[in-house]
Amino acid sequence: MEQTALHSDAISLTQALVRMNTINPPGHEDQCAHLLARLLGEAGFDCRFTEFSTRRTTLIAKLGGRPDKLPLCFTGHVDVVPLGAAPWTVPPFSAEIVDGKLYGRGSSDMKSGVAAFVVAAISLADLIRDSAGITMVITAGEETGCEGAFHLANSTADREWLGQAGALVVAEPTANVPYIGHKGAFWLKAQAEGTTSHGSMPEQGDNAIYKVARAAGALEAFRFDEPAHALMGRATLNVGTIAGGLNVNSVPDAAELTIDIRTIPGQDHQHLRRCLCAVLGEQITLQTMLDVPSVYTPPDEPWIKTVFACCQPLFPAPLSAQSVSYFTDAAALLAPLGNPPTVILGPGELQLAHQTDEYCKVSRINEAVKIFSDLILDWCRPAS
Ligand SMILES: [Zn+2]
Repeated sequence: MEQTALHSDAISLTQALVRMNTINPPGHEDQCAHLLARLLGEAGFDCRFTEFSTRRTTLIAKLGGRPDKLPLCFTGHVDVVPLGAAPWTVPPFSAEIVDGKLYGRGSSDMKSGVAAFVVAAISLADLIRDSAGITMVITAGEETGCEGAFHLANSTADREWLGQAGALVVAEPTANVPYIGHKGAFWLKAQAEGTTSHGSMPEQGDNAIYKVARAAGALEAFRFDEPAHALMGRATLNVGTIAGGLNVNSVPDAAELTIDIRTIPGQDHQHLRRCLCAVLGEQITLQTMLDVPSVYTPPDEPWIKTVFACCQPLFPAPLSAQSVSYFTDAAALLAPLGNPPTVILGPGELQLAHQTDEYCKVSRINEAVKIFSDLILDWCRPAS
């Protein structure tokens, strides 16, 4: 009875996924991956698990395939962020529906999106089987730097099994508005070393904080050499943390700061790193904390136009080309998939992601099933 509802009802499936606590860390996404693999397997999908550590399970599911056309790929993550310090007014794992809103951690970001594309694909399985096909990548560890997606991308066996795709839908929360990209993220740690001595005799030491402080000043003055991107504008840089020293009366022999750079399409992270090294000088060493490329498909790309045409009926005003502020697993998956056109499109509410009392509107989930079904029908129609 329950099984029937889950594979055909995206609301029930969202609820079942929200009721599984996949707060990352520790994640334990295997709960969601195994439930979804069971539902997809029953519909005929080939399923494969890949784990970057114990219980950190990413699911790849595939059905159909044709030699002359690549499959359409959907991706979503099933880990969620911690609950935060503020108390919730609804139990965060009950998945209660009140006034048309499905509450719970991960309801918007993004178990509803995963449920919507899984239900759409299962309902169309008979059509998909004899078509160009559908691939799904349902990841673990997205919220902590796309760990599951990068693990997959770095595994030759997983990449080969995954294969390439002709287009990619990332079902992150956008309230069903299509977005055509996001900036990249390049996070660095800048470290300096020195020599300690008593604080009363600084001339006998070498103060690491002064070096890092000079680096902070240089970073504030740093200017990117790339021209602004038509949609995303300029790259940005922020120094987020600074630390050093043990006590007031010692010369510090170590200090560090962290840098959050958001890059635009076309900007090469290694070139940027060389520019920063030149500005910061030899006393600073840089360590990469996170390296996630940007994602962008031009709005006039034919499949992107199809996506916009599918979504437009939901909105009174004409949809315009936009990018999202967060980064997604697409950054890790695009290279293995062969860099297909990509859209970020899902039922969750953008501004509720990571919030207390997170919810997703039930109506949006139903809309997303319709949009994803339309995209599957368009992709998998017989060759004429
Ligand atoms: Zn997300």
